[in-house]
Formats: sequence, C-alpha cells, structure tokens
Amino acid sequence: MNKQKSILIIGAGLCGSLLALRLGQRGYNVRVVEARPDLRKTNINSGRSINLAFSDRGIKAMRLVGMEEKVKPLCIPMNGRMIHEPNGNTFLSPYSGRTDEYINSISRGELTALLIDEAEALENVSFEFDKKCKEVDFENKTAIFRDNKTHRESEINAHVIFGTDGAGSALRKSYFLSKRFLFSYSQNYLSHGYKELSILPTEDGGFRAYKNALHIWPRGNFMLIALPNLDGSFTVTLFLSLDEGKYNFNNLTTPKIVEEFFRKEFPDALELMPNLMDDFFKNPTAPLGTVKCSPWHYRGNTLLLGDAAHAIVPFYGQGMNASFEDVVEFDKFLDNHNDDWEATFAAFEKSRKIDTDAIADLALDNFVEMRDHVANPIFQEKRKLETLLEMRLPNDYLSKYSMVTFNENLGYHEAMVRGRAQDKAILKMIADHRIKVDKDMSDDELKLVLENILTETEVILEKDRLAKTMHY
Ligand SMILES: Cc1cc2nc3c(=O)[nH]c(=O)nc-3n(C[C@H](O)[C@H](O)[C@H](O)COP(=O)(O)OP(=O)(O)OC[C@H]3O[C@@H](n4cnc5c(N)ncnc54)[C@H](O)[C@@H]3O)c2cc1C
Repeated sequence: MNKQKSILIIGAGLCGSLLALRLGQRGYNVRVVEARPDLRKTNINSGRSINLAFSDRGIKAMRLVGMEEKVKPLCIPMNGRMIHEPNGNTFLSPYSGRTDEYINSISRGELTALLIDEAEALENVSFEFDKKCKEVDFENKTAIFRDNKTHRESEINAHVIFGTDGAGSALRKSYFLSKRFLFSYSQNYLSHGYKELSILPTEDGGFRAYKNALHIWPRGNFMLIALPNLDGSFTVTLFLSLDEGKYNFNNLTTPKIVEEFFRKEFPDALELMPNLMDDFFKNPTAPLGTVKCSPWHYRGNTLLLGDAAHAIVPFYGQGMNASFEDVVEFDKFLDNHNDDWEATFAAFEKSRKIDTDAIADLALDNFVEMRDHVANPIFQEKRKLETLLEMRLPNDYLSKYSMVTFNENLGYHEAMVRGRAQDKAILKMIADHRIKVDKDMSDDELKLVLENILTETEVILEKDRLAKTMHY
C-alpha cells in the first residue's frame, strides 16, 4: 500500500541514479528529474572529473543492487601510487600489502549511464532530463523545474522528495533561504583549484605510462595526478594554488609560462602531453570545497543525500564512494522504520553524519599527504613498514588507508580515530629510531614491532579519550 507513494529524486548523478534503482527495486514509484541532457544520448562533459577512484564502499553499494559484475568491465585496477620525483625517478608505493586490496579507475559517465539504464528498466522508475530544479517548497512537497528547451516552468508534487543534486543543491538552497527552521550550513573553499588535462593513448590505443597505478607528481604545495581510462588515455588533474606561489592559476596565462612551469616541475609528464596547451587553455579552472550542513531532512518530506548533503575535497577518492554508501546505509534504515519517513530520515541522519563529517576531514588531511608527505623520507619509511605488516601479517594489521578504503564495514569515523592515532604512533616511533624497517625481519621480530605499535596507539587513543572528557 505504502509503496504506491510517489518519490521525486532531484538530480540523476551518481547518487540519484543509484537511489532511484534501489527505491525502484523496493517497489516505490520513482520519478527522477535531471538538469542536464541525457548523458547516454549527448556527448556532454560534466565539467567534473572524467574518471574517479572507485573502491570497496562503492562496490558494496553495487552489490546491494546486484550490479557488481556489470560494473567490473568498466574498472581499471590501480594497485598503488606511482610517484614521479622531480628528477624523473619513479617508484610504486602499493596501497596495501594485501594483493586483493586495490582501487579502481572508472568513468563517471559510463557508471552513471549504467545505473540509469538499470533503474529505467524497472517499470516503476522514470527519468526526465533537461529540467532544472529552481526551488523546493518542502512544507508542501512541491518542486519547481524549468525546462532548458522550452523555458517553461512546471511543478512536481510527490509524497517524498530527495535532493541528490550535488554540491550546488537547489533543495539545500531552499532550506537555507526559507529561514523556516534552524538550518546550519558551511561551505569552505581551498585556496587551491584544479584543472583537467590529458595524456592521449598511443597510436595503437596503448597506454603511454604504467596502466595499473594512480600517478602522482607531488611537489610540496601543488601536485599533478593521472588516472587511466579504458581507451588508453589518462585523465590528468593539476591541483594548484589560485593565486599564491611563483606559479599559480592566476599567472599561468600564456603558453610560454605554462610550458616553463611544466618543464621545470613535471618534465616527464610534459613529454607525454603534446596536447597540453590545448587542454590547458580550453578546460576550466574549478574550485574545491567542503560543504557541511544539518539537518539534511525536513520532517518526513525531504532528504538531502550525496554531495548535496556533504560535498568533500577529492583527495581521498571517497566522495562518490561515500555518496553510494549513503544509499546503502539509508536502505538499512528503511528496513527498520516501516515506511515512517520522518523516523527513517532522523535516525539515518543521526547515524550517518558523524561518518560523512569524518571523511570530509580525512580528505582534507590527505591533500597534504598526497602533495607533500608522499615525498617525505619518514612517510616513505612508514609506508614501507605498513606494506610489510599487511603482507606478512595480513590478518593483524590495517593501515588508516586500508581502514578507509578497503574496509567497507568500518565507519569512516572509527577509521579516522583509530587511523590517526596509529599514524601518529608509527611516525613518532620511526622518528625516534624505535623502529627500523627491514624486510628481512623474522616473523617474531615483526610481531614484536606490531605489538609495540598497537600499545603506543592505545596510549594515544586513551589520551584522546581523556582529553575529550575534559572539554565541558
Ligand atoms: C576533481 C574531482 C575528483 C573527484 N574524484 C573522486 C574520486 O576519485 N573518487 C570518488 O569517490 N569521488 C571523487 N570525487 C567526488 C565525486 O565526484 C562526488 O562525490 C560525486 O559525484 C557525488 O555524487 P552526487 O550524485 O551526489 O553528485 P553529482 O555527481 O554532482 O550529481 C548531481 C546531479 O544533479 C544534477 N543537478 C544539479 N543541480 C540540479 C538541479 N537544480 N536540478 C536538477 N538536477 C540538478 C547534476 O546535473 C548532476 O547530474 C571527485 C570530485 C572532483 C570535483
């Protein structure tokens, strides 16, 4: 009976399409309305990264909707970071010592198209494109859309409305502007922006650089990264200050200075990018920011999910994965509350927000790690030790990266608290020469190292717990 209720989803991006599929599978009548043209029919560039790092939390979501096998052919495994040093040396730093732990490069467009196809195949799910939501009357559960072609406005009414309309969400804006309830909202930009570039395939469709890695050129205050695509190309992203430092987006205004910058900082990448100037001057420079807000829901009428509720910076490769995980978590709460939407929304948000706040903070930490620490000798020593522990004691040790990326049943908050304390313990022990990383250590010696790490981590966690109880 309740399943006859109509559901409106605003935004057919990654989160909205997956949500539509899941709610459709549960038998609800779902109508999805998207601002952009149908990406399956038009060659549109979403303006956001063409490929994404897709990992275990995202894969768990695919499993929930029965899509794990269908997604696999779109994935290129990336086993580690290929670090490119300024002198041209390269080395691979594995993401984990366990061989079954790797991340994947996946096309945003193809993954979204697959989810839309699958959802649309259900008779109770429909999609409409080229209609942009202007505002939502969340009290009366009505959304106003403007058709991009006819410019006509229309109203859509539903029993429940979901806002999966990304970082610039119209539903979130309606909450904010209405001043009808206490809505907290923050948006923090980084002083860095990003620009997408590319490494094209070889003439016979091959890869110009090692295929199964996420390439990083860490340069302290800025960095270049590259992820592989199925057609042999790489999507390259430059993260750089907008207006600080010798080279920044504001002063890279001519081909001469762009070439000078790349020749000095990324000479090996420049060799692979004869198309650099075209890309650089054609593609936009975009900002990077974190959005946090609460509440995500208004009574049992509306709910924000995905980037609309919690946009994060991309440095942990978790924004999409977290948005997919929202759907998995939300689905559990649907089971618990028997179609009482207000209770479902409130319980979901209470349990989920602590985890999305944590991944927002971890993503900011990782910006410093990727552009700077990966080139630091103590950090490299730590990664070597962690890889050794994960390889030789696979059931006993999890790095912070593994907890966040490969342990989909551990919440982000728990991973953050445990992972940060462990990192602190290891770095301190290496800096104090209390650990010497030696790959020929016996199992007993390695077990002793691990025991010491765990003891030191526990001391740090206990201090953190104590410090917390003293904040009153
Ligand atoms: C440079 C960069 C790199 C990234 N790399 C990774 C990565 O490696 N791994 C990872 O997990 N995440 C990554 N992310 C994050 C990831 O892109 C987002 O977290 C993810 O796209 C969120 O999905 P979403 O569906 O919530 O939002 P979106 O993907 O933004 O989808 C929102 C949809 O709503 C539509 N829409 C917007 N406004 C309206 C409106 N008013 N009316 C109707 N429709 C509307 C949009 O057109 C869009 O289709 C990256 C992000 C950036 C910027």
